[in-house]
Amino acid sequence: MGDYRKLWESLQMDLEKHDALCAVLPELYGSVYLSQKDRAEAMNYFNFVISEVHGLRIEELNNHRQKGGKVVGTFCVYVPDEILNALGVIGVGLCGGSQFWIEDGEKVLPRNLCPLIKAFVGAKISATCPYFQSCDLLVGETTCDGKKKAYEILAEYAPTYVMELPQMKREKDIKDWEAEIKRFINEIENLTGNKLTYENLKNSIKLINKKRRALKRLYELRKNTPSPISGLDALLVSQIAFYDDIERFTENVEKLCDELEKKISILKANRKKRLMVTGTPMAIPNWKLHHIIENLDAQIVVEETCTGTRYFENEVSEDGETIDDLIRNIAERYMKINCACFTPNEGRVEDIIRLAEEYKVDGVVYYNLSFCQPYSVEYKRVEKALKDKNIPLILIETDYSTEDVGQIKTRIEAFLEMI
Ligand code: SF4
Ligand code: SF4
Repeated sequence: MGDYRKLWESLQMDLEKHDALCAVLPELYGSVYLSQKDRAEAMNYFNFVISEVHGLRIEELNNHRQKGGKVVGTFCVYVPDEILNALGVIGVGLCGGSQFWIEDGEKVLPRNLCPLIKAFVGAKISATCPYFQSCDLLVGETTCDGKKKAYEILAEYAPTYVMELPQMKREKDIKDWEAEIKRFINEIENLTGNKLTYENLKNSIKLINKKRRALKRLYELRKNTPSPISGLDALLVSQIAFYDDIERFTENVEKLCDELEKKISILKANRKKRLMVTGTPMAIPNWKLHHIIENLDAQIVVEETCTGTRYFENEVSEDGETIDDLIRNIAERYMKINCACFTPNEGRVEDIIRLAEEYKVDGVVYYNLSFCQPYSVEYKRVEKALKDKNIPLILIETDYSTEDVGQIKTRIEAFLEMI
């Protein structure tokens, strides 16, 4: 990585603390990712993105801002990227996936809270995340209670706007969400001084649909037995989707898919068990569960998570004569995401069953970040539905620390023997 200290300084970062964070990542990445065998050549792009995660991309954000552009940070797949992009904004996902930030998060939050929330708050208040520091606005949403309340704390540190997400999916709720998107458009127009038009919105919808299609193509390839890509690599691609340049990212996912398509014909059969992971999101650099599983005799072939299928399934319809039609299309597409914050949420159970069949999985790992109530309450419904279909399931509740790695490994080993 080049010398970015001046840039980091200009972003009012805590350089000393940030050095400590930067010291951990290369070693972790080396042992988790670079140690994998038979990786696709095209993964080199994603290796490069990670090596420059606090460098080149931050410089790009900075250049955009120097030219008068804005950067907006988001925390949930419900915040519509199509609007941000259409108004010339670079959107970056800010979910925190590192144990490094937990200690700072716990200074202002209770300890018995989901690590994702503690990490993103810790990242902001410690001034060690250059993405947070590059944002002109943070956009939260009323999803789970922990996040909702955490935005009140973030607002003390940075300009923060919160979208009100309905918690049910009736026609009335879709209309409410549509109105909320219009409020959001207003906010972003005021921030940027740009105006949303039919043309820029339609182009943005097309661009982001293309990105979702590329990810879908990648996941389709994972349906092959054996899958031509490890779960770890697929997870990395999904995580990078949240902050990389949209066009460049899409192009590189397509290149990766071209290579994997060719690879399929020469893949030798193996005895690895095919697993699905379902549950809470895995923000970068949370590779813990995938790393444990794929070091055993198993391969993760699909993730029903927000860093998996929930991010790219369903496109925004490009049909519509007016800007209002397009906004309605956006509202409809986003309300199809099946997050446990909704009630009822039968759609998620149906998705899990469908994906288990489509990807021919031998078992399902229910991944629950500690203290995440919506997903842990929903576990019983999923358990019952999978039992009815004779699909084996294991619940792993964990955080970002490494203390329970041995215990998780033993439990997964026993699960793999059983299925
Ligand atoms: S799990 Fe729910 S709240 Fe969390 S990012 Fe996904 S949609 Fe948003
Ligand atoms: S993982 Fe659960 S508790 Fe944590 S932010 Fe997402 S919905 Fe909220």
